[in-house]
Amino acid sequence: MKTIGIIGAMDEEITFFKNHLNNLKTIKKARKNFYSGKMKGKNIIVVESGIGKVNAAVSCQVLIDLFNVESVLGCGVAGGIHPDLEFGDIVISKDLIQYDIDVTCFGYELGFIPRLKIKEIEADTGLVKLAKSIGDREIKDNRVFVGRILTGDRFVSDPKTLEKLREDFKGWCVEMESAAIAQTCFLNNIPFVIIRSISDKADSCASLDYKKFAEKAAENSFTLISKMLDYI
Ligand code: SAH
Repeated sequence: MKTIGIIGAMDEEITFFKNHLNNLKTIKKARKNFYSGKMKGKNIIVVESGIGKVNAAVSCQVLIDLFNVESVLGCGVAGGIHPDLEFGDIVISKDLIQYDIDVTCFGYELGFIPRLKIKEIEADTGLVKLAKSIGDREIKDNRVFVGRILTGDRFVSDPKTLEKLREDFKGWCVEMESAAIAQTCFLNNIPFVIIRSISDKADSCASLDYKKFAEKAAENSFTLISKMLDYI
């Protein structure tokens, strides 16, 4: 039976999955809770990673090493950057960048990871296609896009940064974990895709909007991933 890893940063993002797992067991590792169980005829391991890139990378590596997952799905909420996005809309990761990696004084572009020699990391094209076709069919009240996800250790809530992420990085949304998951999967040769839904617009209203829209956004991300599990 296939084993699939699912990562969300916060309890609000993974609680839906937890509620749908049969034979739920909790395993603690690296101060994180990994929930194992069965869903749609698959072994599923869901981890609440905690917020930020280090937490996400550590959790992802544990999924790979301890649970032998054959693919990783990232869920949760994000700040919308692209003007077409509304609260609750979904962004499926085409590729991801850690926009806060800055070795520019050695002549590298912002976001470029020296020595590893990459900037954007591509998600698995098969999983992206699957997510898009299922999303277009199953998500009724919101739209589903494929675009670039930007990650950094910072909650973005100002128009200046927003503008930079939109113009310089061509990002669709911004959050704090997924490009670290992407890099971990890249290093381990594990296919992955990230499904994030818009909780705010990374502007000066972001923290207020987040409080209003994060719950619905987290649910939308869960809905799409849970439908995908029928086909993976
Ligand atoms: N309310 C939380 C903090 C949330 S931090 C607490 O007090 O614990 C924001 C989380 O949502 C991160 O996990 C990040 O990935 C995502 N996120 C949503 N909007 C974001 C934004 N505008 N900028 C960065 N991350 C954002």
